Amino acid sequence: MTKFNTKLIHSQSQHDNQTGAVNVPIYTSTTYAFPSVADKPTWDYSRSGNPTRDYLENQVAALENGAHGFAFSSGMAAIHAVLAIFKPGDHILVSDTIYGGTFRLINDFFKRWQLDFTEVDTQDLQAVRAAIRPNTKAIYFETFSNPLLKVTSVKAIAKIAHDHDLLTIVDNTFLTPYLQRPLDLGADLVIHSATKYLGGHSDVIAGIVVTKTDALAEQIYFNQNGIGGVLSPEDANLVRRGIQTLGVRLDRHLSNASKIVEFLESRDEIAKVYYPGIVGTPDHEIAKDETDGYGGIVSFDLRPGLDSTKFVEGLHLILLAESLGAVESLIELPYKMTHAELSEPEQLKAGITHQLVRLSVGLEDADDLIADLKQGLDQVAQA
Ligand code: PLP
Repeated sequence: MTKFNTKLIHSQSQHDNQTGAVNVPIYTSTTYAFPSVADKPTWDYSRSGNPTRDYLENQVAALENGAHGFAFSSGMAAIHAVLAIFKPGDHILVSDTIYGGTFRLINDFFKRWQLDFTEVDTQDLQAVRAAIRPNTKAIYFETFSNPLLKVTSVKAIAKIAHDHDLLTIVDNTFLTPYLQRPLDLGADLVIHSATKYLGGHSDVIAGIVVTKTDALAEQIYFNQNGIGGVLSPEDANLVRRGIQTLGVRLDRHLSNASKIVEFLESRDEIAKVYYPGIVGTPDHEIAKDETDGYGGIVSFDLRPGLDSTKFVEGLHLILLAESLGAVESLIELPYKMTHAELSEPEQLKAGITHQLVRLSVGLEDADDLIADLKQGLDQVAQA
């Protein structure tokens, strides 16, 4: 069996054209000619299937060791297609620290359609078991949570889920299949905001779902085609291209992140650093067992009294922006930016204070990133 870095480039062979092109062409045609009324071609209409999108879908399915992949116009469209497999009256357990947009989709849309959700701390297995009801159908979580990088054990949750005949749904955006393959650990469905590491260059919004089984694939395909939030062929090509360099990019993300963690831990202006690579935490123990690396996102609390806005605005190289997982380093204040949908009590419950900073460590030279952080911290410390 080929190793992962080889699979990133060669999991799908490219042989469907006459030219010898080494990459799948971008098929822009919306419709395909039938040989005859009775003979349906492989592709008939591009919402239902497109050769460029198919390539990407098969590429990601191979990397996640899944049965089928599906590409959507955004991570949110992917999550929507997954939650739309449930019916009114079904109940889903959802981790209490997930991406703010996923909370919004649940609270402002699916709850209106009588899908029932309970937020639960997925690190607390007793609490997870206790929250299961007769109508519970699934457990939904992010393995490394956004923005506090709490680590949930896929193995432990999948075991509880299997014991109760529930689906395990994992948003694997932060880790990618390079660092964790949740289906191998017992999950049933994997979701990605491919806008992040899979695309990797801040130039495409995209989402992916990978299923463990053919039966689940049928349900997701029905929703993908029926609801229609498909990825365009041009954008499918960008994600396909980004995936080829996922391994080399993540190696650098990881090495830069660990140097930055070491630097932040040495500074008095920092009250706490959140990174699952830090030894001595329960998060580290789970991550050590279930992942091949601790990711490229580092969050930290500035010491009380230091001005977090001034700090993030005072950086020169690291850009003040939402999103993560791309070549350039991005910094943000979750309470005001990515997690602003949460009320203040909800933010505080989730550990999101005005002092919390989230840094997506990019691929620049680590020395330059550290120099930028240092001048930013010096500036707020002097103010
Ligand atoms: N899941 C996670 C963990 C995210 O961080 C995000 C976006 O930040 C999403 C899903 C939504 O993805 P998209 O912005 O591609 O719709």
